[in-house]
Amino acid sequence: MNAALEGRVIVVTGGARGQGREEAELMASDGATVIVTDVLEPEGDLPAGVIYRHLDVTSPEDWAILADELEKSYGSIFGLVNNAGIVGARGKAGRLENIALEDWNKLIEVNTTGPLLAIQSMSKLMTTGEGSIVNISSIAGVGAHLAAGYGVSKWALRGLSRIASMELGPRGIRVNAILPGYIHSDMQQQTPQDFIDAHLSLIPLGRVGAPTDVAPLVSFLMSDGASWISGVDIPVDGGAVGHVGLRIISDAMTAATNGA
Ligand code: NAD
Repeated sequence: MNAALEGRVIVVTGGARGQGREEAELMASDGATVIVTDVLEPEGDLPAGVIYRHLDVTSPEDWAILADELEKSYGSIFGLVNNAGIVGARGKAGRLENIALEDWNKLIEVNTTGPLLAIQSMSKLMTTGEGSIVNISSIAGVGAHLAAGYGVSKWALRGLSRIASMELGPRGIRVNAILPGYIHSDMQQQTPQDFIDAHLSLIPLGRVGAPTDVAPLVSFLMSDGASWISGVDIPVDGGAVGHVGLRIISDAMTAATNGA
C-alpha cells in the first residue's frame, strides 16, 4: 500500500465497473476514501475505502443530494474523476449522416454535460486550497472518430477541462484530461474483432489497453507528485496518436526496403 492519497476524499463517476472501478480500488489502496457513483450497482464486494452511491451524472438533483451528504460527512473533498461515459451506436446509426437527434443529445448529456454538473457541484466542496479533477476524454477527442456524437462529446470534454483548469486554478484546483486509447473494459465486450485489429495496427506498443493501464495515472494526478500539472491532455494509448497516423508510411517503407 502506498499512502500518497491518505485522508483524501475522491468522487469517481461511473465507477461500478470498467476503468472507474479499477481507478476507485487503486486510489483506495493508495489511502483515499473513494465515493463511487453510477447508475449501475457494483457487482461483488467493494474493498475497504470504497463507498457506492447511486447517481446519474445528468441529474442536477442527484449532484445536489451527493454534495449535501459529502459536506455533512467530510466537510470538504479533494478530488473528482469524471469517468462515466457512453458510446452510443457504433454502426451506421452513429455516423454523421444518420445519427438521431435523440442519440446525439444523450451522448452530449452524459459525456459532456454530466462532467459540467459534476465540476459545478463538487468543486464547491474543494475548499482547502488544493484539489484535483480528472476528466476521462478519449483519443476520439483529438481526431475524427467514426461515431460522430461520441467524438464530439469527447472533444467538448477536453475543452471543458482546459476552461476548468483556467477558472479553478486560482483556488489551487488542478484539472487535467486523460485520453485513453482502446481499453478492453466492460464497455468493449461486444466490440467486433476487426475494430480491435484496426486499433492494434495503430499501436506501436503492440497490444490494446486494460483498465489497469489508466488507473495509475489517475491516482498520480490525485497525488502531490502532480502538484504543478494542470490544463493538459495525456494520452494513455500505447503510442497510437503520437505518430498522427503516419505509422502506415513507416510500415510501407519498411516493407519496400525489406526492413533494410
Ligand atoms: P464502461 O462502460 O465499462 O464504464 C462506464 C460506466 O459509466 C458504467 O459503469 C456505466 O454504468 C456508467 N454510466 C453510464 N452512464 C451513466 C450516467 N448517466 N450516470 C452515471 N454513470 C453512468 O466503460 P469504460 O471503458 O470503463 O469507460 C470509462 C470512460 O473511459 C468513459 O468515459 C469512456 O468513454 C472512456 N473511454 C473508454 C475507452 C475504451 O476503449 N473502453 C476508450 C477511450 C475512452
